[in-house]
Amino acid sequence: MKFNFYISLKIVTTIFIACLVSLSGCSSSKPVAEFHETVFTMGTLVEVTIIGEKSALSEKAYAAILDDFNYMHNTWHPWKPNALKRVNSLLKTGASFPLAPSILPLIKKSQILSEQSQGLFNPAIGQLVKLWGFHQDNLDEIIEPPEDSSIQVLLKQLPKMSDVKFKGLSMFGINENIQLDFGGFAKGVAVDSTIEHLKEFGIKNAIINAGGDLRAIGTKNGRPWRIGIRNPRGDGVFAAVEVSGDESVFTSGDYERYFESNGKQYHHIIDPRTGYPADKTRSVTVIHSDAATADAAATALFIAGPEKWHEIAKAMGIKYVMLIAGNGDVHMNPTMAKRIEFIIKQPVIKLSSPL
Ligand code: AMP
Ligand code: MG
Repeated sequence: MKFNFYISLKIVTTIFIACLVSLSGCSSSKPVAEFHETVFTMGTLVEVTIIGEKSALSEKAYAAILDDFNYMHNTWHPWKPNALKRVNSLLKTGASFPLAPSILPLIKKSQILSEQSQGLFNPAIGQLVKLWGFHQDNLDEIIEPPEDSSIQVLLKQLPKMSDVKFKGLSMFGINENIQLDFGGFAKGVAVDSTIEHLKEFGIKNAIINAGGDLRAIGTKNGRPWRIGIRNPRGDGVFAAVEVSGDESVFTSGDYERYFESNGKQYHHIIDPRTGYPADKTRSVTVIHSDAATADAAATALFIAGPEKWHEIAKAMGIKYVMLIAGNGDVHMNPTMAKRIEFIIKQPVIKLSSPL
């Protein structure tokens, strides 16, 4: 995920859709309110849609979650001066320091997810991400990949999330290379926290869509939310899936952030085992109840690739996966396959055993 400074791009306002008596069976033509706003925050265009609430309530809830996004963006940005940067500089020293309340939930949650993913999802490898140059806004400035020798130096003492230790009300690091970078799941944490905030306002039907990664609650006028999954090669939609109740859909792709050098593309999802961008996958889509887990799992399964995704998905408790391999084959578990509708030409499908 790329972070950019919050720019307000408020676009759309409240729309009223007439509830058609003949189609929906409504006894009156009472309007169903659809509130829709778009904002650029946390490096992504975020669309917020709220269905069936008074516009005053939707406006109030939207203002509250804008504040949430702004706070999280400023606190968790991986390469701007903020609380995370301060924690990173202290962790490297090995000295004890008071628990940082704004970062603590991310550390705790990512320690569990990292362990479950056998270290494939590893937000402690910020130094490696930085070495590749992905800690900058403009990737056009990168001319070539880092020296292999520099990658090997970092791999020799590669930090793990379990290198962050807690003692009472203090924390400390035990690896001088540790640098936390929550780019692989901060968007998910942010989407979870804003959906929970909408629920506190009593909102039952809503979707927060952060550049194709989303969590949806309730329904859209009684029908499931229909979600498009991007084609990793070329424009357009690859597949569609319907979600309702309370579900998150997150995708990690090699097309999201990358630079080119000598005709080769280098993307931003780094395999902690090799120190290089994972090269067996085009994209992975995960459906899960909470967005933070879906986000972390999409990153981990992307790295795991066609051979290992099933094992890691099981360990992370994930029930719905679609992985588009480097050769274009689509790997899915059977329950995911039942939900996926291909929009482009039917690809080669490799069905796994159940998850
Ligand atoms: P995503 O698009 O959610 O897969 O996240 C990609 C971002 O996660 C990158 O831009 C890095 O900031 C970070 N990242 C890269 N490799 C890893 C990894 N192995 N584990 C955790 N985070 C990573
Ligand atoms: Mg992710």
